[in-house]
Amino acid sequence: MVRMACIDCGTVFFEAASLREMLTAMMPHYFEAHKDIMAGESSVSRDAWMERFTSAFNALDHG
Ligand SMILES: [Zn+2]
Repeated sequence: MVRMACIDCGTVFFEAASLREMLTAMMPHYFEAHKDIMAGESSVSRDAWMERFTSAFNALDHG
């Protein structure tokens, strides 16, 4: 399990065992606190967010 803060506000923490699980764990928070991002006006911004999320997840200590 790794612990990760929301990459957009940093005030909420989530725990998950994989990137996919982390994504799922964060979804309710994103729909509540970051609707603008989830609205996904363009696939470009969604891809950019996914890239940020992936690098933040990979930067965590997975030991
Ligand atoms: Zn947040």
